[in-house]
Amino acid sequence: MTSKIFKYCMISTLVAIIVTIGLFFNVLYHEFENSTMDNLKEEVALVKVGVDHEGIAYFDDVNVAQRVTIIDQSGDVIYDNVTDEEDLEDHSDREEVIEALDSGWGYATRYSESIGKQSIYVATLLENGDILRISTTADTTTTVLLRMSVHIVWIVLIVMVVTFLIAHRLAKKIVKPINEIDLDGTNLIAPYKELNPLYSKIERQNYTISKQLNELQKRQDEFKLIVRNMNEGIIMINKEANIITINHAMKALFKIDDVDVGDSVYEIYRSQDFMKAVEEVLAGHKQNIHIEKDKRIFDVIMGPAKNDEEEVEGATIIIFDITEKELQEKMRREFSANVSHELKTPLTTISGFAEIMKNGVADINDTKELAGNIYDEAQRLIKLVEDIIHLSSLDAKAKVHEHEEVDLNKLTNEVFDHQKPSADKKKISLEVDGEAKIIGSYSVLEEMINNLVDNAIKYGNEGGYVKVILKEDERNTYISVEDNGIGIPADSKDRIFERFYRVDKSRSKELGGTGLGLSIVKHAVLYHDGEITVDSDLKKGTTFKIILPKKD
Ligand code: ADP
Repeated sequence: MTSKIFKYCMISTLVAIIVTIGLFFNVLYHEFENSTMDNLKEEVALVKVGVDHEGIAYFDDVNVAQRVTIIDQSGDVIYDNVTDEEDLEDHSDREEVIEALDSGWGYATRYSESIGKQSIYVATLLENGDILRISTTADTTTTVLLRMSVHIVWIVLIVMVVTFLIAHRLAKKIVKPINEIDLDGTNLIAPYKELNPLYSKIERQNYTISKQLNELQKRQDEFKLIVRNMNEGIIMINKEANIITINHAMKALFKIDDVDVGDSVYEIYRSQDFMKAVEEVLAGHKQNIHIEKDKRIFDVIMGPAKNDEEEVEGATIIIFDITEKELQEKMRREFSANVSHELKTPLTTISGFAEIMKNGVADINDTKELAGNIYDEAQRLIKLVEDIIHLSSLDAKAKVHEHEEVDLNKLTNEVFDHQKPSADKKKISLEVDGEAKIIGSYSVLEEMINNLVDNAIKYGNEGGYVKVILKEDERNTYISVEDNGIGIPADSKDRIFERFYRVDKSRSKELGGTGLGLSIVKHAVLYHDGEITVDSDLKKGTTFKIILPKKD
């Protein structure tokens, strides 16, 4: 830019000098011409006096330095001190002659054919009517100007050197603030007003760029936030299978704190299946595999990342922990198998007894007992089906049950009324202590407390007790069901809430248990967003503790 400004300065100065000199010479030339004409006029006036007085004879004594011509009224040259009069043509058409004849004086500047030079003419009318004309060549003017031009060349050279220095400085001065512009700055103040448009443009550009950068940053932050807070593991890899993004969930799922951006994706998991899937996805094919790590099961989905030309640039790998899902699926399969088995057993028994009665094989006296057995098994079936229905209604998680304020003391007493015959049989006392109210489903809470009291009686010892203690504070309602029965072995405590799990299967069956009671209790607690724990000492007794949060 500096050299451009410099070049333009030099060129414009040169042009200015050339134009100035041209004009100067022009003006000078005309000035010289006018002054020459004035001198000639004075000379013509002097000679006129002499010629008027003496005629052509005047020139015998006086030697005039300039060319003198006398032309008669018809235009013939009667005297010329430079050229032979005979050689000169008719002069009546000459501009200065016509003018002199007309007004007394005539002037002209033109190229003289006779002497072959640019000439200046001044003519005057003599008393006898002839024309006296004195002329001089323009050579003097040109010579003077040529002599001057030597000096002018010097002047031009000096001006050019000065211009060179000034242009150099000027170019630097103009460019310096431009080079020093702080492009990132705001409120830019231009060092001179000619730069204002440039500065405003830069400011506008800066504003647009920073807006776009902010937008970009925002999107990147959003993306990072989403990726960071995702429960699923996310990895992005380039086509060399090196990690370019990895989120915290991924590191946590695979317990790989030391693996980071830049490492090979194979660092996170080494297996033939995984390596093959990565190779395949980088070849452009989607992949979905299951892998197992530290007893957890992961669903791995891989998708190729392609550019506009459909070339694979890398891949995205999403990893889901599906352990719970798989576990639930396993439980569901086991539950179906258990339900079938639990239903089949009483049905087989019923079918067997009924067959004996149908075939008339049984003694008439045994009929009552057989019918009694059928009735018991049918009751067990009914209980089982009821429990399954309860369980599935709670399992569905939808709050299908109506909610109301439930007085737990009152509810417990109603449960006791229902359970009293069974308790009396074993001389077990039923006590309720404390008051508590809760917003919840009456039927679900009743089923929950009933199942716990039922178990406490079933697995209670003769002459024992069942105590329900109710408490509440601002945040929670506390229910505990305590007995001094047979207790639960330590290794079974974690399993008693599983469907169909029974510590002693035959004893449970004998007591009319389905193995679903505590599972229903747990789901009833979860249904009310609560928690349940169990404290139990073998042969000493068991306490189930429930905490139900109060709703706002
Ligand atoms: P069940 O129909 O067999 O009672 P539950 O799901 O109600 O099934 O209980 C699961 C198992 O937990 C029972 O079989 C029993 O072994 C044990 N259990 C439950 N409650 C008590 C208790 N209060 N005292 C001792 N054992 C209990």
